[in-house]
Amino acid sequence: MKYIFVTGGVMSGLGKGVVTSSIAKLLQLAGLNVSCIKIDPYLNYDAGTMNPIAHGEVFVTEDGGECDMDIGNYERFLNQNIPKNHNITTAQVFSDVIRKERDGGYLGDCVQIIPHITDEIRRRITSVGIDESLDVLIVECGGTVGDIESLPFLEALRQMRATCPPGEDVLFIHVTLAPSLDVVGEQKTKPTQHSVQELRRIGIQPDYLAVRCTQPLQDKTKEKLALFTGVDIADVLSCHDAESIFEIPIILYEQVIVDSVFRKFGHTNLMDPENWSSWNNVVDSMTKQGRTVRIAMVGKYVTLTDSYVSVNQALRHAAADLGVSVKIDLLDSEIIRNDIIPRYDGILVPGGFGTRGAEGIIQTARQARLHDIPYLGICFGFQLAAVAFARDALNMHDAHTSEIIPDTDNVVVHLLPDQLSDHATGGSLRLGAHAINIKHDTRASNIYQSDTIRRRHRHRYEINTDVIPRLEGAGMIFSASSDDNRRMEILEIPSCRFYMGVQFHPEFSSRPGFPEASYRAFVDAASRI
Ligand code: GLN
Repeated sequence: MKYIFVTGGVMSGLGKGVVTSSIAKLLQLAGLNVSCIKIDPYLNYDAGTMNPIAHGEVFVTEDGGECDMDIGNYERFLNQNIPKNHNITTAQVFSDVIRKERDGGYLGDCVQIIPHITDEIRRRITSVGIDESLDVLIVECGGTVGDIESLPFLEALRQMRATCPPGEDVLFIHVTLAPSLDVVGEQKTKPTQHSVQELRRIGIQPDYLAVRCTQPLQDKTKEKLALFTGVDIADVLSCHDAESIFEIPIILYEQVIVDSVFRKFGHTNLMDPENWSSWNNVVDSMTKQGRTVRIAMVGKYVTLTDSYVSVNQALRHAAADLGVSVKIDLLDSEIIRNDIIPRYDGILVPGGFGTRGAEGIIQTARQARLHDIPYLGICFGFQLAAVAFARDALNMHDAHTSEIIPDTDNVVVHLLPDQLSDHATGGSLRLGAHAINIKHDTRASNIYQSDTIRRRHRHRYEINTDVIPRLEGAGMIFSASSDDNRRMEILEIPSCRFYMGVQFHPEFSSRPGFPEASYRAFVDAASRI
């Protein structure tokens, strides 16, 4: 087993996740069995209870984990599923240690951060590598060096290098920033010098620096950084701005990182050029500019684009495959006006929760239908499209979801009877991949070309099956279901050019070069308008 640990310095938001994914991708292209872990040093048990505006989207794994959005980056770069135990939080580590203490697992010991917490962190990391027979495991430690929260994790990583058995190897990559403040573009090294000092103070000397900068790192900046940080000049890597994040593996490859990592691990790099060109083809398709399709994404988490990163990505994967490009406008469902909708080639409503902005989503779903603009509703966008249709086509003016109006007479979306007793918030949603059965001779079967698919879910409410005969009589059909027909999964209106809602989240299954079929069909319909 070999480990690469990625730490962050200077400030958050530098793109540690992209550096981690890119290194992993390069090693995967070199024929190694790799995977990634994300450490999140916060006290939430998982990302499920966090506001996407503060922390980015909650990424759902195949096995139902509500994870940090970096897990989505790993999946998209590596084109492989990442299980939920690859997202380690402080809460998970501490609760395990505390439970074990209560169970008498440490009888006689004084239970401490070192060694008990650090041992548990190390156990979680190494067991992933062993269980999955990985060649290289890349572990990204969230937060910035110097934070109190990340100290136990960094200490555990330090110990792993210090106690590395023969044959195992550990490398550290520190991601920092070289800002340029003046017009001449001098790249400043002081922030990096300080953050490496901070790292060394806790006993970690980085092997590589991955330095974020707007322009490629100048030679004199590299020399200075090498001198002050003790990192070999060849291992000071420029991570300058790129048009697409998928170009970062190429930028790193050109700085011979793969040869260098192999050398440090005592192996020879045998990357097959075929592999390399397959990735280049994906990147080319993602960066070439075709005709622009204008998509409005109408949701409530609009102040941070990372709130819907997988949806954004899925639209781009679909567009790349179709040879078009998408311009995505993120519109606030709380203030959306009816006349905005017809200005777009396609309308997408992503998932959401709660009352704020819900009426705007219902109006959006309605306007898209009335103007026959291609519509894709995800989860909340699926549920509220059914509500909008019931109000218009069935004259149920008070039609609603019981999530918002619990006691309305015309409940179109509700909790299933066996869900009513469930009161916990964290982890209480229907999560992860479930099998979905698709009806023949529907748009859905045409799109998916299969009777069953598996897709990831994250929701609590369901379409009220009592209303379905009336909705279907008025022209909205339910073309897929799961759980023995108890849960509806896809709706469509055959008389519209493209009007579809899905209870699941197709965006979590979309990868560059492998777009998810419903997103592809939606962008295709929008491009024909
Ligand atoms: N709020 C809805 C539910 O819980 C939809 C969830 C979502 O869009 N992810 O069922």
